[in-house]
Amino acid sequence: MTGHDRQRSQAIGAFSAALVVAAALLLAGPLRHLPAPPGGLSWWMLIPAFTAAELVVVHFQARRESLSVSFAEIPLVVGLVFLGPVGLVGARVVGSALGLLHRRQAGLKLFFNLSMFAFEASLACTLYHLLRGGADSVSLRGLVAAFVTVAVTDLVAASALTTVIWLKVGEFDEGVLAEAVTTGLVAALTNTSVGLLVVILVESHPVALVLLIPVVATLALAYRGYSTLSRAHAHLEALYRFTRQVQREEGTDFVAEIVLRQARDVLSAHTAELIVLPIAGDGLHLHLIDDEMHHRPVDVAAWLAPARAGRPVLRRGGGDAAGPRDALAAPLEVDGVVVALLVVQDRPHHLGPFTADDLQLLESLANHAAVALHKSRLVGQLRTDAATQEHASLHDALTGLPNRRHALLALTAELAASMNTAVLVLDLDGFTEVNEAFGYAVGDRVLRETGRRLALHATGPGHVARLGNDEFVIVLRDVADADDAVRRAEEILGSLSAPVTFDGLSLDVRGCAGLAAAPAHGADAELLLQRADAAMYAAKRDRVTLRVWDPVTEGASARRLVLLGHLREAVAARQLTVHYQPKVALGSGQVVGAEALARWEHPDHGRVCPDEFIPLAEHAGLIVPLTDQVLAAALAQCALWRVSVPGFTMAVNLSARSLVDPDLPAQVGAALDRAALPGAALMLEITETAIMTDLDRALVVLRGIEALGVRLSIDDFGTGQSSLAYLKLLPVHEVKVDRSFVHGAAADAHDATIVRSVINLGHALGLSVVAEGIEEDEQHRLLALWGCDMAQGYLISRPLPAAEFSAWLARGLRPTGV
Ligand code: C2E
Ligand code: CA
Ligand code: CA
Repeated sequence: MTGHDRQRSQAIGAFSAALVVAAALLLAGPLRHLPAPPGGLSWWMLIPAFTAAELVVVHFQARRESLSVSFAEIPLVVGLVFLGPVGLVGARVVGSALGLLHRRQAGLKLFFNLSMFAFEASLACTLYHLLRGGADSVSLRGLVAAFVTVAVTDLVAASALTTVIWLKVGEFDEGVLAEAVTTGLVAALTNTSVGLLVVILVESHPVALVLLIPVVATLALAYRGYSTLSRAHAHLEALYRFTRQVQREEGTDFVAEIVLRQARDVLSAHTAELIVLPIAGDGLHLHLIDDEMHHRPVDVAAWLAPARAGRPVLRRGGGDAAGPRDALAAPLEVDGVVVALLVVQDRPHHLGPFTADDLQLLESLANHAAVALHKSRLVGQLRTDAATQEHASLHDALTGLPNRRHALLALTAELAASMNTAVLVLDLDGFTEVNEAFGYAVGDRVLRETGRRLALHATGPGHVARLGNDEFVIVLRDVADADDAVRRAEEILGSLSAPVTFDGLSLDVRGCAGLAAAPAHGADAELLLQRADAAMYAAKRDRVTLRVWDPVTEGASARRLVLLGHLREAVAARQLTVHYQPKVALGSGQVVGAEALARWEHPDHGRVCPDEFIPLAEHAGLIVPLTDQVLAAALAQCALWRVSVPGFTMAVNLSARSLVDPDLPAQVGAALDRAALPGAALMLEITETAIMTDLDRALVVLRGIEALGVRLSIDDFGTGQSSLAYLKLLPVHEVKVDRSFVHGAAADAHDATIVRSVINLGHALGLSVVAEGIEEDEQHRLLALWGCDMAQGYLISRPLPAAEFSAWLARGLRPTGV
């Protein structure tokens, strides 16, 4: 109970006490000198009548209070004539008390009612005797005195009631008084007539009282009918007040509270709840108890299920622990969707359980509330949420592009219209590195830009979509044949080739893609998408930009998943091995070192090539332990081989991820220490793309490595986007011309030019140049002629297990042609 409530209760208590005092003063003052009553009736004989009058009560609703009109005036009039003041007050108070107690009235409310009855009875007594004077009770004066007495008494009682409501609710409502006066007067006139009839009969023909029984019964029925009518009127009145008040507050947060207040008051319930259903997000549960609004997380009880489905629920005497005893629930619908539930629970005992009429009332309240809430921010918010949700369910938040679901719907529709449809799944290269190196903000910009470029190729809604991460899908419609599909796919890939530039940064975003075309590769959207995806993975694996699905690529993605799990186990169990491929000086044929290449012998799948498992390891965060294992094995071997070949250098490959790992220099330093080798014994091979993705961070790491005396080699040179000019910035000692150029060096003039210019520029920058992938004598001869420093390739030796490499070294084998 709050301090405020306590004050109110104290005021009501004081007011009630004042009524008792007033009654006592009347009894002790003017009423003491009244002549003795005619007799013939004992005071207790009226007790049952007053009790019955309290039990058969017509209720009226006014605001939160229920006004009761009884036929207590009948015994009152009889008592005025036949009993003395003390007897009448006693009968009135005792009889009513029994009735009220039976209705489980208690506490302050009971005290107030009884005080008022005592005051009412003593006041009536005083008035009646004053007005009647010495006249006969059934004389005209006597009858008028009775009518006036009852009317005035009722008026005073109504005022007292209004006062108490005012004390309790804190606002004065003349409506309450007006209602009490009108209904009170109607009842008073009728009751007084009946009471006087009883008096006449008792005085003249007591047996005729029996005739009165059907009359009173009919009157009781009429009361009941009137009660229902009055109730319906009260309901209408309440509805009107509700809509008026709600309208006033429309568009504000108060609407919910007003809805709750009105619903609770109109139905005289203990609590009212508004459960805003969680269409999006968490939903809301507004709860009104004792005038306090409570918010709590939504929990929609099982018994409310029908209401959720749009049907109002009437729950009576629910005995189980879960849920209220008596309750009503009605749905609030907006555009045919149930957005919230209006629930009222439990009401004062004397009002009885909720009825079907009450449910109907709650339903109409709910309908009005739905309209009001609909206009208010609350449901407005809900609806935007719902719309966003709807959009979000079909779109990707980052790029604003349609999402996978949308794409599937569009593809399904497209396939239904025509089988000349193909699907292109596109994945960005090195996006993970971009994200890691530049941060997510840059990654997001790359994705948005990619999405924007791809969207230009959309041929219909949902035709260009983001599948997730850095994967996109493009639906190609009106595809003439496989060649046409490929041509269009290449065009789309080409549109990504211009670098993405912002904030002085220029990033090359390239992608590789997989293509699947209906009907040859499937007629169903899901299957086509899955196959295009598999083709994309095949393209990635084979380092090509585009692959058309073929049955062989089928299962590639499934394989990826299986391998991923096994790779984790293999790394943990240190099952990866290392093979070594010699690096020889092109002029002399002298072995200068070896490149360590990781190998994985899978128990079921046989040898898995590094181009497949290295990206997997990067993806699964296994690259750090993997690099560590390769480093350890390679350096241990290097220490051995340095005994027979002084200055033998071991080359170890680093992945892009390692390059932005600030712990890498420490990791490398520790590996060198364990093998008791100087930094110069190690060469680390890195690719241009790996450096370029985060030049600043890579530089820090590379400088740390350089400080160890470890040298750096740029691998696969020529395939990346950097220019040689960048190499000046880097602590680099060697470039390895990519094997694709070496392959073409003998036959392709273009490749030859590239190889020659790399050699010249490398030398100009003071770097040594290695040609990798030499398979033929002619390639070897030309590279030697162009002044390339070192060679590596199958022609010299395939990568070998350590023991075989030792044997190869021991044989002192030299490459042919030198
Ligand atoms: P890479 O660094 O360019 O390694 C050279 C690749 O060329 C090796 O393939 C080697 O077997 C192959 N190769 C050597 N000579 C010839 C030749 O004459 N002709 C042809 N066609 N190929 C030749 P491998 O062993 O399959 O390795 C593939 C890639 O996997 C490597 O390319 C490297 O990028 C990566 N890789 C291998 N081991 C590791 C490792 O321990 N860590 C990291 N981060 N990457 C590794
Ligand atoms: Ca390499
Ligand atoms: Ca290479």
